[in-house]
Formats: sequence, structure tokens, C-alpha cells
Amino acid sequence: MRTILQRAKSWVIKVGTRTCLDGHGRLNGAILLPLAVQIQKMRAQGKRLVLVSSGAVGMGRELLQVEGLGDTLPTKQALAAMGQVAIMHDYQNLFSMLGIPVAQVLLTRDDVAARERYLNARNTLNALLEHGVLPIINENDSVSTGEIRFGDNDQLAAMVGSIINAEVVVNLTSVPGILIDDPQNPGQEKVLSEVRAVTPELAALDKGTTSQGGTGGLSSKLRAAQMIIRYGGAMVIAGASTPEILTRLQAGEELGTLLAGTESRLNSRQRWLAEAARSQGVVTIDSGAAQALRQGGTSLLAVGVVSCEGDFKAGDLVTVWAQGEDKPLARGLSNYSQSELQAVAGHPTSQIADILGHPGYEEVIHQSDLILL
Ligand code: GLU
Repeated sequence: MRTILQRAKSWVIKVGTRTCLDGHGRLNGAILLPLAVQIQKMRAQGKRLVLVSSGAVGMGRELLQVEGLGDTLPTKQALAAMGQVAIMHDYQNLFSMLGIPVAQVLLTRDDVAARERYLNARNTLNALLEHGVLPIINENDSVSTGEIRFGDNDQLAAMVGSIINAEVVVNLTSVPGILIDDPQNPGQEKVLSEVRAVTPELAALDKGTTSQGGTGGLSSKLRAAQMIIRYGGAMVIAGASTPEILTRLQAGEELGTLLAGTESRLNSRQRWLAEAARSQGVVTIDSGAAQALRQGGTSLLAVGVVSCEGDFKAGDLVTVWAQGEDKPLARGLSNYSQSELQAVAGHPTSQIADILGHPGYEEVIHQSDLILL
């Protein structure tokens, strides 16, 4: 499984708040300088690299030095606005010593939900990479609230991986990987080396701990891993302070936890459908239709639809659930609005024109607009 890392050409490297700050309003050079040197080496070998860095809010707090500042949203947004410039200033200084030009890209969830904006983000990142610039990405914390937020940089890094079609997303953190009890040494823990799927047993390992100043924790990393595995990429959770971590991972050394599935890689449109587009409604289908979709190569027809909810229009993305199941089956673009679909649900295609008073579509979701989850 480690050959994935030996072969990978495009990488997203994510560093968390705890990893990248030194506690005095500067980037932590002891960690970031060696990482930057490894990034330089990988770039020299022709790898495509993007850095996702947290730390804006934390850096703002360190710089402002006000006691009892609190944690309200406007405060955090103000801190992020302040901290982000300081972080980028330090990154620019750091990477310029190695001859690497950097660019700041700040994203929100909303920036990738619409296909056009997703493509814009992708084109910008690709243009930077083509020109040899290292994109350094963070959430646009000072303006993003609620719904439009990624919420944490684990999800942001996974989404960036999906946008640039990265084979590997390395999540560098303050622990050396996912820790499990070591059966050989009772009372001790060891790093789980490889994971093929994110299972409930794995999620149960989350002890609810998040490193100080960070927002992630294991469950957030596992959610990110699910997204990455779904588009056909791999994720590594590894210790940021492990010496030569990137170089050694790239050499296939068994460090950190590698999470990778067996899924074939999705194309750009499928990746957007699977992850980035925002679902506007729910379509519930019967077990016959669910079985047909699972076999692949088929479209969803009105006859298999049981019900639908949400304020979606024709062309919007909807989530498809099989009746009685506890997780969604697919996502896809609906040819019908919610009210039209409600009217034709359960009816064979031949009756659609009579029901609607105009010829409708043969498919509710065409197979090319549908992605199984
Ligand atoms: N975007 C946040 C920041 O730069 C960090 C979110 C996270 O830690 O996951 O402060």
C-alpha cells in the first residue's frame, strides 16, 4: 500500500495550528524550516505541492496579547484577519530563503459549491502550480460563518485534494498517527499503520481530544479521510516533528497512518458532484431502484422514486437515499424540481407527459450526473 506514496505526483500538505505556531506570534521555525526544505526537494523532483496551513486565529491571539479576549465569532474573525497576514509574512520569508515563491489562497465552503466557482478555484491553483508557485491555503476565516464554512482545515485540505486531484493529502499533526493499544506491550500505544476504510470501530478510537489551539481531533480527520478515499486519493496522518517526515513517507517508509481505499479515481466533475456541490434536497427511492443504481450504469427513473423533500430546482444537486437505509446512497443532478418530481414520483416514464402537461425527462437523474457514495 505504501507504493501509493512512492508514486504520488500531487500532494497536499496540511499543518495544524499547534504545529505551525511558536507561541510568541511567529511561525515555528523548528518544525517549518525542515518541512520547507523537504517541500523544496519534492518540488525539485517535479512533484505538485500545495500547503494548507491553519493558525490564523491562534497567531492573531498571540499577537494581540489581550487578556480575556473571549471566543465570540467576531473576535475570532478579527483575530484571523490579523493573524493571517502575519502567518503569510513569515511563510514568504521562510520560502523565499529557499527560492520558492508563495501565494495565499483563502477559500470558503461556498467558493466550491457552485460548479463555476469550483472550476475557478481549480484553475487558479493549477495556474499557480504551473508557474512554480507554492499555494498556501487557509479558510477565509474573517468572512466565513455558519453554512459557508468548512469549519476546520482537515475538511479544507481534503477538499483542496479533491480540487487539484491530489493522490496524497498528508495531515501533519502533534501525534505520530492514529494510536491504538499495543497488544504486545500492555498499557502502551502504537501507531496504526494502514487503514482500508473508515469504520465505526476506527471512529470509536476518538477520545474527543483536540490539541490545544486546534479544532480538528480524530473524528474530523476521519471525515476528511472518507472524502479523500471516496475520490480515489489517500491520506496520511503523521507527526509534524518526525524528522524528515515527508521525504521518508515518499520513500515508502512505514510512518504515520496511511488511509487509502480501493476506489478508482473520480474525474473532476464526479469529484465536484461527490464532495463540493451543495445538496439542495433529498430524494427517497425504493429498493428496486436502489439495487439498479448500485449495479451501476443506470439512471434514476421516476418510477423508483418514493418521495422527495427540499426546495430544489431542475439542475440542482440532490442526495439520494434508499428507503429504510441509514446512509445516503448517491448524489446527483435532478432534471426535475421538487414539485414536479413529487408529482411524477412512482409513475412510469410513459405517464410523465400527461401528469406534467408537457414532455418531461426520461430520467430523474441521468447516470452521467449521478455518483454513488
Ligand atoms: N482556519 C483556522 C485558522 O487558521 C484553523 C482551522 C483549523 O484549525 O482546523 O485559525
